[in-house]
Amino acid sequence: MKVMTNEGYVETDPAFAKQVAAESGQPVESCYQCGKCTAGCPTAFAMDLAPSQVMRAAQAGLKDLALGSSSIWLCAGCSTCASRCPRDIDLCRVNKALTAICLREGRKPKEPDTAAFHKSFLDSVSHWGRAHEFELVGILKTRTRKMFKDLDLGLALAQHGKLSVLPERIKDARKIRRLLRRPAKGARARPVRDVVDLAEKVVDTALDAADKVLGKGGKRQ
Ligand code: SF4
Ligand code: SF4
Repeated sequence: MKVMTNEGYVETDPAFAKQVAAESGQPVESCYQCGKCTAGCPTAFAMDLAPSQVMRAAQAGLKDLALGSSSIWLCAGCSTCASRCPRDIDLCRVNKALTAICLREGRKPKEPDTAAFHKSFLDSVSHWGRAHEFELVGILKTRTRKMFKDLDLGLALAQHGKLSVLPERIKDARKIRRLLRRPAKGARARPVRDVVDLAEKVVDTALDAADKVLGKGGKRQ
């Protein structure tokens, strides 16, 4: 089916709304476009589609429009929209489902730096069970190849003790890693990842042993 948009007639994907509803756990179909989410959203000014327009795109099966939007990446996850929605829709969860579908389908994110930040954050959490800011910045800079971007901000954070050089590892960080790296259904085997997992397991075991010897349970949470 085709619908009229600002870009002319666009093909719709009727299964897309159901997919977004299933993955987000939100009743996407019940949005009645009151616009209260958009009116309260603190980042709507920077988005190419207002939050209510993202909802409409998802609802109408306008897959390319929804997945190609900057809005799904610029959502700050503040849940203001959820607290205002008369239909009890948590639009933040809808946005997160859309970003996940976007990455899974190998589409280019409209905000690549934000996508890189998400991946870098999860990389760091998978190493230590919590984010290690210094490592996170390193991974992000390597990934985006923007080594000097926001250097002044980084220096200010370091001055205020917000960029600790040494990481703190939580107990059983490997459980978090397993959770984050659980392969999607039907995903192909990744031999390189298996080797990395094995190496990390060895490092984990060595760190656990070192903690025991040094009696460093206190450093871990
Ligand atoms: S506040 Fe809820 S019902 Fe209103 S437009 Fe936003 S998502 Fe739809
Ligand atoms: S959760 Fe996202 S879409 Fe909702 S108000 Fe906050 S920034 Fe806007």
